Amino acid sequence: MVEGRHDHSDKADGGYRRTAQRATILTEVAAAEGHPTAGEIFERVRRRDPRIAYGTVYRSLHLLARHGLIQELTFADQSSRYDGRTERHDHVHCTSCGLLVDVDVPVALIARYVAEERSGFAISSHHTVFAGVCPACRTAAVRRQGAGDRERKGLAAI
Ligand SMILES: [Zn+2]
Ligand SMILES: [Zn+2]
Repeated sequence: MVEGRHDHSDKADGGYRRTAQRATILTEVAAAEGHPTAGEIFERVRRRDPRIAYGTVYRSLHLLARHGLIQELTFADQSSRYDGRTERHDHVHCTSCGLLVDVDVPVALIARYVAEERSGFAISSHHTVFAGVCPACRTAAVRRQGAGDRERKGLAAI
């Protein structure tokens, strides 16, 4: 069967068609630091193209991720985050402020082989998110605690 050479429609199987809007969205994700959410990408894309709808951005992000042009990082109860870096890497996630940054953990590569050996699966991908509290939030927590201590001492003196 010969397909029309000028068939620009998206196929039912999700064929990727490059459009100006998708190119803009892809550029924003690639340029972004800190793994933005769909809402954050929408705000940035809207500065270049004020007519773009949120639904278009949202659907395009899913499409770009499905075609391996970006990575979608999903979290159980939070918005997905998008990553312009498509090669395998791991992340650290701050449970206090939501900061998400790349972390290179060499041992993660070994984990893949261990998982394969123990499960019998042919592992095609794996991704680790280390959850915790980022340096800025740790510093803020220490400060807050210090202020609380001073407050309690102040009250005791009254
Ligand atoms: Zn934080
Ligand atoms: Zn990343």
